[in-house]
Formats: sequence, structure tokens, C-alpha cells
Amino acid sequence: MELPDHRTKIVCTIGPASSPEPVLRQLILKGMNVARINFSHGDLEKHREVIHRIRSLSTELGVTVAILADLPGPRIRVGDLENEPLTLEKGDTVYLTPLDIEGGKNIIPVNYKRLYESVSPGSNVFLNDGFIQLRCLGNTDKGVECKVEIGGYLTSHKGVNLPGSKIFLDAVTDDDLRFMKFALEEGINIFSLSFVENSSDIEKLRQFAQQHGESIYVVAKIEREEAVKNIDDILDHTDAIMLARGDLGVETPIQQVPVLQKEIIHKANLRGKPVITATHMLESMTENIRPTRAEATDVSNAILDGTDALMLSGETAVGRYPIETVLMMTGIASRTEKWRNETGWGTELLTKGIDELTMSVSDVIALQVYQAIKRLKVDHTVTPTISGQTPRRISRLKPDCWIFAMSRRQEICETLTLSYGVYPIYSPNKGGSWEQTANRLLKENQIASEGDLIVFTEGQSPGKPGGTNMLKILQIE
Ligand code: PGA
Ligand code: MN
Repeated sequence: MELPDHRTKIVCTIGPASSPEPVLRQLILKGMNVARINFSHGDLEKHREVIHRIRSLSTELGVTVAILADLPGPRIRVGDLENEPLTLEKGDTVYLTPLDIEGGKNIIPVNYKRLYESVSPGSNVFLNDGFIQLRCLGNTDKGVECKVEIGGYLTSHKGVNLPGSKIFLDAVTDDDLRFMKFALEEGINIFSLSFVENSSDIEKLRQFAQQHGESIYVVAKIEREEAVKNIDDILDHTDAIMLARGDLGVETPIQQVPVLQKEIIHKANLRGKPVITATHMLESMTENIRPTRAEATDVSNAILDGTDALMLSGETAVGRYPIETVLMMTGIASRTEKWRNETGWGTELLTKGIDELTMSVSDVIALQVYQAIKRLKVDHTVTPTISGQTPRRISRLKPDCWIFAMSRRQEICETLTLSYGVYPIYSPNKGGSWEQTANRLLKENQIASEGDLIVFTEGQSPGKPGGTNMLKILQIE
């Protein structure tokens, strides 16, 4: 088995450009760890086909690939427009209507029934990722009258943001539940929820899954001002977060996004909750074979900030170069990680504040693993795991060593694809000790050879989650 040169995880959004089997195959071979199915687009039958294709390729290629079902949440969108694109010019008057009609020259339908209650004169309305900006003048019979402050071209179904306005929509909509039911039936147990405001939104998802007899791994998308305010509460309840910089840069001042990225990644790292940094990472590669220098630097900086995973959206969903984009991303990742490992750049930050945390036994073991990797020439870390907690706790410190997480549960292996440097190995381990199994698996897969130094963690009562309480340093025989 060949180990990748990089340990940052890659999330690819699947769309028309990446759905064909040969493209998916290459994406998996070149570094895609997580396939994101965006339920804001496409129909369920298409999604089903793609899910099956990914599953069978993952089995055939022997690579763990997680499927992330991204739920749109209370996202407001422009409806159908008659003539696309609609040109909006500064100073134009347009009317936003909640009616389900086809949009025309100065009338724009929006799929939000309580639009009139949310906005008031002076409210800002942003369309198409904030590229078009309107100011609300007041409610009229034709709709909400708005003045165009920044114009642009508008096409159907673009996002609408109403920063600062109260939104009267459930955090988990009926559509979300319908998508979730479908995804659960397809065996997916990793879900991201858009526009999360607080932990109760996350709990609603968990409850729904529980009613269907499933327990799920939740990625809270941080893209609202409310979510930034409630980040501690959200981190306490979620399994992972996504820095959804697209909407975050419209819902909060865009000038603040770089700082928020650093602060939020650090908070999540401390708690051992994986972070996906998302949106516009290599945006120009949607059309071009090479990214801009700023994009290449952004990818590298997100890694140095401590992100676990990097996400591609349009680049892989509709772009011209999905495979080249993944290769570019992994190339930047391996250079950046190598440099971090050599210089220790930013590693103090990763442990900053860790001494103030209340620690469990397995937290302390994870810290000891990190110390061992730093001080000895450790080749590999091996952590048998039930819940995935121990490998996640080691991963948050971004050590210079693969963390082989062996689990009897395939769904836990999938969730671990989001954690930096964790290499999940599904192993039913019916007989023998984990130590023997680890020895055998590492050799069989040509990961380790005789004499290699291994840090191995174990629980005294295997089978009990959170029970890791031992650390051994062994040499492969
Ligand atoms: P989206 O989420 O692509 O579902 O909008 C990501 C973001 O907002 O950045
Ligand atoms: Mn978003």
C-alpha cells in the first residue's frame, strides 16, 4: 500500500464534472478522501447513482472514501428567471417577490414566504455570493422594493443572503429531512448542515437520525454571524465544523473572514474537532489549469492555521480540471506539511491553551503519543479505536507521523477520513490482540518493516469507548 505524500484531507464536491466513473476513479487515486454530495443541487436519482459508484470504486480500489451529505438548511434562493442572465445595474429599482413566478426584467422571485417580515427599509440584500448588493426601500404590492447598489449578472437559483435580518425558517427544513432520510437509507452517516445557529440545530439532526435508528456524525457549517457568536456551544455539540467561507463572507464582513478562520480553527483544534476549510480555495481552476498565486497561498495558509481538511466546490463539481485541481491541492499540501515538520512553524499555536483544558485519561495518552513522536524517531502510530476519539485527539496536534486508526466499524473509519494524518484501517479483528493484528496488518500492507518504531495505544477493557489508557513503544518484529 502506498501512503500519500500529504496528510491534509481533501473533500471534493461531486457534480456533473466529477460524476463519471473514470473521473471519480482518478479523484480517489489522486487524493480525494471525502466525496461531498451537495443536496442544494441535482436530483435524488442522480445522487443515488453517484453514491453507488463511489462505494463500489472505494471497495475496488481498497481506499476508504467517506460520503458527506451536505444539507442546504434554511438557504434562500432566487427562483426561475425568464431571460438569463438578468442584468442589474447600479441605481435600478427591482422588486423581490415571495410568489412562485418566473422572474422578469425588474422582478425577482425568491423562495422565502416570509420575506416581507424579515426585511425593512434600509436592510441589505445580497445575491449571488454577495456580488450583487441591493438596499431595501420598503414593501409594496409588487414585492419588496429594492435599489441596486452594486449591479451584476443574475441567473436562476443563486443564493440570497439577508445579513442582519431575522430569518423565519427552521434550521432543519422539511427538505433537509427528506434528503436525510434518503441518505440514511443509502447508508450515509456523515451530514453537514448549512446555516447552523446554535447547538439545538445540531441536536435536531441527531434526533431525526435516532428516530431512524441511526447515529450520525455532524459537520456544522459556520457561515452565520450567530454561529460565530455561539461557536463554543456549537463545538461542544458537533463532531466537526466546516468554515463555509462563501456565505460567511456575505453574512459577516468579508474583511473579518481571515481572522475568523484562524480563531475558529484554533478553537476546534483544541477540542479535537476536525475542521474543513471551504470555498474558493482554488476557484480559478474551475476554468484554468493553474491557480492564482493568492489561491495557492490560501491553501497553504489554511494548513498552517491548523485545518484538517480542504474542500473543493465548483472546482470539482463543474470545473474543467477536477483531477488537476486535486493534484495541485495535494502538491501544495505536501510541500507545506513537509516545511512545517522541518521548521516547527506554527506548531506552538497548535498546543497553545492545551494546558488549560480539563483532560481525560485518553487525552493524556494522546499528548504522550505526541511527545513520543516528537522526541523519538517514531515511524508510525497505531490506535485501535471504537469511537475514533483517540486518533482524533492525537491528530489535533498534527504530528509528523501517520496515525493508523484500526476499527471494527466501517462507519468510524469513514468519519476518520476527515482528521489530519489519520489513516483508517477497517479490521474486524476477530481473534488475537490488537497488537498482533497491528503488527500483521502493517507488514502485510508493506507500511512497516522489521525494526520500525511504533507508538501503540490500547484500552484495558477493549470494547469500551473512551477506554484508551495505555501507550506502548514497540519495534516491529
Ligand atoms: P455552500 O457552503 O457551498 O453550501 O454554500 C459553503 C460555503 O458557504 O462556503
Ligand atoms: Mn454556504
